[in-house]
Amino acid sequence: MSEKSNSGCCCSGDGRADGSAPQKRLGWHEYFMGVAHLISGRATCTRGHIGAVIVRDNNILSTGYNGAPSGLPHCHDSGSACRIYKSIHPDGTVEENCVNTIHAEINAIAQAAKHGVSISDSDIYITASPCIHCLKVLINVGIKTIYYASPYKMEHIAELVTLSAIRLEQVILDRHQQEE
Ligand SMILES: [Zn+2]
Ligand SMILES: [Zn+2]
Repeated sequence: MSEKSNSGCCCSGDGRADGSAPQKRLGWHEYFMGVAHLISGRATCTRGHIGAVIVRDNNILSTGYNGAPSGLPHCHDSGSACRIYKSIHPDGTVEENCVNTIHAEINAIAQAAKHGVSISDSDIYITASPCIHCLKVLINVGIKTIYYASPYKMEHIAELVTLSAIRLEQVILDRHQQEE
């Protein structure tokens, strides 16, 4: 005797036990960008909280958030603070960065390197578009597409994006976008 069809599986009901509407299943962009937003909650630089997730074949390979190198004081620790340096972009605009901090996407790459995970031909989800320094590294480690949530100084990276084969695509999640 065959078992009864699984169409009435206990976990595929039309509604939840409390009678509320069923939750819509997350799409892949929502899933990975949602994880990137979650990871940004671990960031320690008070100038901004960024999360990054490196993905290939819908599988998470590595993650990172912005903060101080392991074992060193974090910007948000008591008695510590961001230390800002200014640099002048060739277009004349001044950019400010925190000297204590490793950016989220570089930390994701460092984590992959530390554990021997190949990230060639992968994609990255970042809660903000990369700075030009991170973009150059993302190109060299073989990232194919950068999915970002919030734009950050896009004018600084536009030329490099055009000249390289890397793709840049904005992913907007309504609930997170409203928080920023
Ligand atoms: Zn900082
Ligand atoms: Zn960066």
